[in-house]
Amino acid sequence: MSERTVALVTGANKGIGYEIAAGLGALGWRIGVGARDQHRRETAVEKLRASGTDAFGVPLDVTDDASVAAAAELIADHAGGLDVLVNNAAITGPMPQTPTTLEPTTVRTVMETNVIGVIRVTNAMLPMLRRSTAPRIVNMSSSVGSLALQTAPDTDLLPTAYLASKTYLNALTIQYAKELSDTNILVNAGCPGFTATDLNGFRGTRTPQQAATIAIHLATLPNNSPTGTFSNDTGPIPW
Ligand code: NAP
Repeated sequence: MSERTVALVTGANKGIGYEIAAGLGALGWRIGVGARDQHRRETAVEKLRASGTDAFGVPLDVTDDASVAAAAELIADHAGGLDVLVNNAAITGPMPQTPTTLEPTTVRTVMETNVIGVIRVTNAMLPMLRRSTAPRIVNMSSSVGSLALQTAPDTDLLPTAYLASKTYLNALTIQYAKELSDTNILVNAGCPGFTATDLNGFRGTRTPQQAATIAIHLATLPNNSPTGTFSNDTGPIPW
C-alpha cells in the first residue's frame, strides 16, 4: 500500500464530485479523478493539480464492466492501492418521471448508473480496500431516497426513477455495511443537500463546496466509527 491515503471519486470532473476531490486533495491525499470523458477528466485533473491536489486521471464509465476493471488496474499500478471510494457519479435521467409517465428505458438507464454502477465499482475496488488500514466507502445519496421523507404528508411528488435509485442505494449501503461489518471497512451514505450543479440546472441553493463537506466527513471518519449510516451536514437522516 501507498503510505499516503489514496481515494477514488467517481464523477469527479464537475459539480460535487470535483469539490470532494479538491477537499480530500487538500488533506494531502492522492486523488483518482474518475471520469468518463477524456477532455473533461484531463481538464479537472489539471485544475486540481494547479490548486495543489495530487490528482491523477482515472478513465471510468461506471456503466461499463471493462472500464471499471481497467480503472481498478490503473489505480493499483499508479497508486499501489486504494483507501477510500466515493461513489458520487449519478444521473437524474430524462423527465418527466411520474410513475404513470415513466418510460422503462429511463428506469433502466438511471438504475444502471446510480445503482448497478455503484455495485460494479465497489466490488471492483473491494480487494484494494480490504488491504487498507482505514478503508471507507462513501455513497452519495439524497434525502429524496428516504422512504420516511417520501411518505411525509408535505412531501411533493419527485422524479420517480431518480428517487427510487437513491432508495435502492440506501438499501445497498445498509447491506454492504452488514456484510463488511467484520472488516475495518466503513460504508456510509451522505446527502449533500440541494446544490447548484448540472444535475438540476443549477437551481440548487447550496454550493458544491458546501455539498462536498458530508462526503469529506464520511471519508475521514476515524476507525471504529459507525457504519451503515445515512446523514447530512446536520446529522442523521431517517431511512
Ligand atoms: P453533476 O454535476 O451532474 O455531476 C455528476 C457527475 O457524475 C459528472 O461528473 C458526470 O460525468 C458523472 N457521471 C454520470 N454518469 C456517469 C457514468 N456513467 N460514469 C462515470 N461518471 C458519470 O451532479 P452533482 O449534483 O454533482 O451530483 C453528485 C452526486 O450528488 C450525485 O450522486 C447526486 O445524485 C448527488 N446529489 C446531488 C444533489 C444536488 O442537488 N445536486 C442533491 C442530492 C444528491 P459527465 O460530466 O461525464 O456527465
